[in-house]
Amino acid sequence: MPSDSGDLGSLREQLRDREAGKLYRQRLMLDSSQAKQVSLAGQEYLAFCSNDYLGLANHPALIAAVCEGALRYGVGAGASHLISGHSTAHHELEEALARFTGYPRALLFSTGYMANAGVVMALAGRHDAIFADKLNHASLNDAALVSRATFKRYPHLDLTTLERQLAASRAKRKLVISDAVFSMDGDIAPATNLLALCEKYGAWLMLDDAHGFGVLGAQGRGTLAHLGIKSPRIIYMATLGKAAGVFGAFVAAQPEVIETLIQHARSYIYTTASPPLLAHALMKSLDLVESEEWRRKKLIQLIVALKQALQPLRWKLMPSDTPIQPLIVGDNDKALQLSESLRERGILVPAIRPPTVPQGASRLRISLSSAHDMEDVARLGAVLRELDVAS
Ligand SMILES: *Cc1c(COP(=O)(O)O)cnc(C)c1O
Repeated sequence: MPSDSGDLGSLREQLRDREAGKLYRQRLMLDSSQAKQVSLAGQEYLAFCSNDYLGLANHPALIAAVCEGALRYGVGAGASHLISGHSTAHHELEEALARFTGYPRALLFSTGYMANAGVVMALAGRHDAIFADKLNHASLNDAALVSRATFKRYPHLDLTTLERQLAASRAKRKLVISDAVFSMDGDIAPATNLLALCEKYGAWLMLDDAHGFGVLGAQGRGTLAHLGIKSPRIIYMATLGKAAGVFGAFVAAQPEVIETLIQHARSYIYTTASPPLLAHALMKSLDLVESEEWRRKKLIQLIVALKQALQPLRWKLMPSDTPIQPLIVGDNDKALQLSESLRERGILVPAIRPPTVPQGASRLRISLSSAHDMEDVARLGAVLRELDVAS
């Protein structure tokens, strides 16, 4: 039968399949700012779902800095960086980020998704090869697929397989890519060993520290500082919308790498520069990240308390020492039900299901923030223990 509505039938079918598999996604709608207590449809909830690990998303000093930035630079950047959108606010932030991370240069991107796309596509093409941990963030996988490089994935943390793949490769340029802190498991990549393999086989090492920057290492300098490694071979990417509490991302690396990105990274070149007021606010955020060590100390205390509080549960936390604490439930429907039951009791914890995580590994992804207090963790623990007994 001819249809005047395009292919809506097949979209409906695809949506129904997703729903039948308990994989349908729905957005929450907050009517408050991002904080430990959020409001949804006028109801208050204690939230364990944000990546605002240091509780900065709503910090008065950052709000003031955004206002000051707007007065000084206006709202929109008005053009891409290579035309006339690059301002002193962006430039100063790049210099500050390079100093902070200990790299010669840094380059700002609008988002982490775009930074990953930009680096991978600028450095790897048809004759090159990319080697990636299976649990890397989706943005890294998308970038690798678009780059047209040979794309090899190794099982999570399996460096034996990675070495075999590197040894067998005849590619011109080799790029090993890993999350530094894995976004759904919360574990830390063995970056020291990854770097040794990259040195042995002449490969670049790209690390995505979206969840380590601001959280790990002295003054929050990130996973590489935490592990004490440094190398001109490393291309470091971190985001500014998580622990830093604002928006954006950056890549820190050798000057040749940064210049290559300015010349060739399509997601840098063909897009409007982010509002300079954000870069202005990020200078303040970087100050807070660096100077307020108490936020990281508090996070560690909260992590320890959470592990203790959830010890008696039948569901187990994955081994993670970061603020990402996944509670493995297994079944998609069960994970969803548990998240719903928590919500009925005034607590928000997202259920994470395939394809974001492997089949059979559905989970509650509990994320902690230094905005939380010990009582909040105790309350989450008490409610989960009650649900465990009841189910
Ligand atoms: C969030 C995230 C990104 C994307 O960063 P955005 O700035 O949100 O686009 C990239 N990589 C990892 C590991 C992430 O968790």
